[in-house]
Order: sequence, then C-alpha cells, then structure tokens
Amino acid sequence: MPATPLIDSHCHLDFETFDNDRSDVLRRAKDNNISDIVIPGTEKIYWDRISSLCKNHSQLHACYGLHPYWINEQNKPHIESLKRYIELNRPVALGECGLDFRPQQAEKKLQLYFFEAQLGIAEQNQLPVVIHSVRATETVIQRIKKFSKLRGMIHSYSGSLQQAKQLVDLNFYISVGGSVTYDNAKNIKQVVKEIPLASLLIETDSPDQPDKKNKGKRNEPAYILSTVKAISEIRDESVDMIARQTTINAKKLFAI
Ligand SMILES: [Zn+2]
Repeated sequence: MPATPLIDSHCHLDFETFDNDRSDVLRRAKDNNISDIVIPGTEKIYWDRISSLCKNHSQLHACYGLHPYWINEQNKPHIESLKRYIELNRPVALGECGLDFRPQQAEKKLQLYFFEAQLGIAEQNQLPVVIHSVRATETVIQRIKKFSKLRGMIHSYSGSLQQAKQLVDLNFYISVGGSVTYDNAKNIKQVVKEIPLASLLIETDSPDQPDKKNKGKRNEPAYILSTVKAISEIRDESVDMIARQTTINAKKLFAI
C-alpha cells in the first residue's frame, strides 16, 4: 500500500447498490488509505441524496450535474435548477455532464444542448467540470474550446493519445480507472505512459468498471490500489510517486 493517501476522483457511492453496506465500503476505503472520494451527480432527483451523504461524511465531496446517459429523463428547466442548486450548495465540481454517442443513447442535439449549458454554468461559477465522453472525444474537445476559462477532468478516459494531449493543453486532467489493469487495454496504457503525471487522476467509477481481479463484481473505492499499481508498472515509476502526484492533482482540481 502506498504511504500517501489516495483520492478516488469519481465514484457513485450514492447509488442504491451501496445502501445496505455503505459504511462497510467506507471502512474498507479507509483501511486502504483512501482519504477522499468525489461523488459525481447524475440526475436532478439525486442531487439531495449526494448532498446529505457528503454532509454526513467529511471525506466525501459532492458534484452536481446532468449525466448524458439519463438526459431523456431531464427537461430544459433543470438547467436553471442546476444553476440555483450550485449557488446554494457549492460543490467541488459541476458534473458529470458530457456526451455519449453510442447508438442507444439520447439524440446528439439534445445531449449537446445540456452539455454546453452545463459548461457555461461551470465557467460562470469558476468550477471545474467532470466530463463523461464515450465515442465523442473529438466533439468534447471542440465544445470545451468555446469556453476559454474552463478546466476539469475527463473521467474514464477512452480517447486517443493525440486527443489526450490536446485536453492536457486545455487544462484538463485525464482520469483512469480499472480498465488499465486489463491486458488488452493497449490504448489507455499508451495514454497513461505518455501524458505528464501532473495531468493524471485515478478513479474507480464504482459501482461500474471493476479492475481485472474483480471483473463481474460490484466495484468499490478499495479496489483503486490495482489501478495505482498498473500505472506504476506502465510508467516505470514507484507506486508512491503515482499516489503522491495523483493525490496532489485531485486536491488541486477540486480544491479539497
Ligand atoms: Zn460516472
């Protein structure tokens, strides 16, 4: 275990799947030297759930946003609600928001409307933004460029190395999780190897995307250690160095 405490930069600990044993999950996180966990928002109806969870646990940090996956269940006035909610409940970031261009997802035009509106709110409130991008990285880069003062992270990064470098130049962190532990994950391994360590974050995306060892199981923050080890091997740098720098990065981005 690394000596430096770790930060899980993206974890849906508010999801119902943790309702029966959330305190055990938090204890295992603590036992594994995970000091802080960032909880991204998904839908308006769940912002209060995240807010009360974070009020009760000082190591949990809230984000509020409208996730593209559930955008068909939102309506345009939710953008106004988000503005007000953010002003009242100062989160560590706005998100997650973004674009998901897999075929079964909401129509692109609607996704783009909510994405750009949220980027505007983040910039106005000087908040970092947590972005979900699946098969959409080129468009995400285009849209980010419209906002000159924006910064943030791309969670569970799946774009190319070239795009990652562009995102780093645009003040964005590249966040990676359990996928780097899989043998066939050539693309993300190359990204992890080539980008500056000062631009890298680690996450679990719990309860989704478990590492190779826990494939098929519910993911949780304690499993983040395998991601740190995998990054250490890929970059040929010590586990402690990866832990130290990714924790510095997360603290800087989220001001925690
Ligand atoms: Zn997520």
